Amino acid sequence: MEQKTYNPYVTAQTQFDQVADKIGLDQATRELLRQPSREFHVTIPVKMDDGTTKVFNGYRIQHNDARGPAKGGIRFHPQETVDTIRALSMWMTWKCAVVDIPLGGAKGGIICDPHNMSLGEQERLCRGYVRQLAKVMGPVIDVPAPDVMTNGQHMLWMMDEYETIHGGHYPGTITGKPVGMGGSLGRKEATGYGVIYTLREALKALSIDIASTTASIQGFGNVAEHAARLYTKLGGKIIAISCWDNNDKASYTYRNKNGIDVNQLASIKDAFGTINKQKAIDLGYELLDGNEWIAQDVDIILPCALENQITPETLAKISDKVKVICEGANGPTTPDSDEIIKEKNIYLIPDFLCNAGGVTCSYFEQVQCNMNYFWSKEEVLEKLDQKMTSAFHAVHNLSKEKNLYMRDAAYVIAIHRVAEAVKLRGWI
Ligand code: NAD
Repeated sequence: MEQKTYNPYVTAQTQFDQVADKIGLDQATRELLRQPSREFHVTIPVKMDDGTTKVFNGYRIQHNDARGPAKGGIRFHPQETVDTIRALSMWMTWKCAVVDIPLGGAKGGIICDPHNMSLGEQERLCRGYVRQLAKVMGPVIDVPAPDVMTNGQHMLWMMDEYETIHGGHYPGTITGKPVGMGGSLGRKEATGYGVIYTLREALKALSIDIASTTASIQGFGNVAEHAARLYTKLGGKIIAISCWDNNDKASYTYRNKNGIDVNQLASIKDAFGTINKQKAIDLGYELLDGNEWIAQDVDIILPCALENQITPETLAKISDKVKVICEGANGPTTPDSDEIIKEKNIYLIPDFLCNAGGVTCSYFEQVQCNMNYFWSKEEVLEKLDQKMTSAFHAVHNLSKEKNLYMRDAAYVIAIHRVAEAVKLRGWI
């Protein structure tokens, strides 16, 4: 059977159009918000260690900045596409709006595979990217952050290049910086913890005791690892975790029906979130096909890796036991799967609400940089919990009140806020 392919930008626009119809959004606002405001496509020549020069393609896409400076991560990925970045920039706008922080939406990406690049090559790539975009980014314009396969070190190289070009200290230019260099305590944990704060509240609303639940997770990178840590701390049991293995160019699911020890599994993964296959087998994990994470007999599934992972084909394998889907990743579910999730009456915590903890903490990082005064980790996580909990309840309550699917309820709140900002500014 031929595999259906999904374009995330089409997904993002389909989701938007459906809600725009529901709330009767006027034509001009609809046209403005269903596409990015600005796109920058750049070429980045990088001197490689072997003396050759390689030209990389990079993008920065600003979807909307009516509520504040554009905000969004920068990804490194060999299969990055402009449409994926367009979709992600749109989701960033809704994400900042649904948690009610004064920022807009953007996303960046560079087509590259850091697995095959030395640190020096990665540094030159980061600096080259900023040289191309220094005029259209900055604390009051557009503020990047880490995302898939980028980290605090990449952000610091980018900030340093920006400050060199602009001649001053501008720590609010970029977030996700290392702690001690303008970074916020708690940023590392923020997205994964935010995922679990929303899950905790959803389970309360469903009258399910988190300590009686089991879960399966796709991914074991930044988001998944910290989500796994907090979920198990609250008493939940993780049965399976899947990740990508770059040596085998395949994904695997690691299963322990008695419950995964997150610390142990984290101790045998690399910086890209890949679990060492042999060590996992030696520790007694069952090795299953990469797609098996979704087929486990668990209460909760957490897609925390990539977009387009929950499709009608993969949903066909889902257990009847699953009660909650917690979207840690951006765009993990295709629109045709939403219909099946509704039919199955599975409670969905939609991506741009569920994983908004990262950008919320990035916003806290900017606030701390502006004050030049940094909070304790407890203070950061407490403020994060408050923001995520209140955003969750606003969406949950609207979904109950108006009998809306959770994704639609989150969109209604976010679109209303952005449309209002656009109108107040007199753009429409
Ligand atoms: P990461 O690069 O740290 O980790 C990605 C993980 O996904 C790795 O463990 C990798 O092995 C795994 N993976 C990749 N392909 C896979 C496949 N086919 N099957 C199974 N596993 C696979 O990335 P991250 O920062 O954890 O981001 C994960 C998702 O969360 C992305 O969709 C990202 O856009 C989203 N997100 C991240 C943040 C953040 O703060 N890092 C914030 C919001 C949303």
